[in-house]
Amino acid sequence: LKRKLDVSPAVCPRPEAEAADSGVQVVVRIRPPRSVEGEEAPDPCLCRTSANSVAIQGQTFTFDAVADAASTQEDFFTLVGPPLVENCLAGLNSSIFTYGQTGSGKTYTMWGPLSATSGDSVACERGLAPRVFEHLFARIKQEQGKHKDKELIHSCTCSFLEIYNEQITDLLDPMQKNLQIREDVKTACVYVESLTKESVSTMKDVTPLLLKGLANRRTESTSANADSSRSHCVFTCVIKSESKNLEAGSNSIRMSRMNLVDLAGSERQKLTHAAGDRLKEAGNINRSLSALGNLINILAEISQSGKPWQHVPYRNSKLTFLLQESLGGNAMLAMICTVSPSESCKSETLSTLRFAQRAKL
Ligand code: ADP
Repeated sequence: LKRKLDVSPAVCPRPEAEAADSGVQVVVRIRPPRSVEGEEAPDPCLCRTSANSVAIQGQTFTFDAVADAASTQEDFFTLVGPPLVENCLAGLNSSIFTYGQTGSGKTYTMWGPLSATSGDSVACERGLAPRVFEHLFARIKQEQGKHKDKELIHSCTCSFLEIYNEQITDLLDPMQKNLQIREDVKTACVYVESLTKESVSTMKDVTPLLLKGLANRRTESTSANADSSRSHCVFTCVIKSESKNLEAGSNSIRMSRMNLVDLAGSERQKLTHAAGDRLKEAGNINRSLSALGNLINILAEISQSGKPWQHVPYRNSKLTFLLQESLGGNAMLAMICTVSPSESCKSETLSTLRFAQRAKL
């Protein structure tokens, strides 16, 4: 069922709900060396030194977890996904971000090789997004069968958008460009005007949306990669859980969001020899990624120091403005930072690890 709404319902985190856990999880994933021509030898100075640390050029960085080439897509989902799904089922917002240089494994980690049919050879390589939804639907079924005294009704609605040069395009209907972020005056929640929404209840509903949106995503050739992602893309699922207490005759409704955010390549512009439009793109990408990094750093500082909530600069980029209800408060966030094992990438790898460390604090 396809619905197009002029005004999207906004969803705010419900502070009274109990979360499975909350805060920012920072996980680094080192991709395996590629056997393609031109890929340099792996960097002997980059290695995973424990379950949560990585060393490069004699410097050790510690995160919540570090995964290397031995980590399968299933292992990686098990490491990151289930607590985020539980958080959403508890009525709170969850987000997964993939951050890293082009070619470091963001797309593979978030989406994997997607196929319209399940059970084929790429199925075991599917990424976090399809696995998050499989888990979500399985947990919803489990919850619905668990309670005798109440009826649980869940409805999930998805949208997929791209932020390119600080402009929003609907990836499920790319004719809809330059969409505006609006703020609901009553609730102060933000939403994107006219964004396509699709109801989903099984993977058969979700997979075509992922395939369609990713096919519409803007990629350009840069010297770093022939198929470089120059935009941030955000797949959002709004989960509405209605609980009807059959004995007491009472009703309660919880709303939460799951955001899957595949960020534009984080490589610095000088490496891609950018000029003209590419230079403008690179400037916008750098600005929005640093706005995101600053914001996560401020949120980490607030949560660590226990200081009262201060001014948080959500409006410094479209991405942070749009996701403000999923950044901070009781929301849960996994920042996946992907790095290449190649020696030629070591300065970008260092810069990714520094970004990851700021997010962790
Ligand atoms: P990015 O999205 O950061 O530009 P990709 O996800 O496209 O990078 O990864 C670049 C290449 O490396 C792709 O061919 C992808 O299949 C492969 N790759 C990335 N990470 C892994 C991994 N963990 N295991 C196996 N192959 C990977």
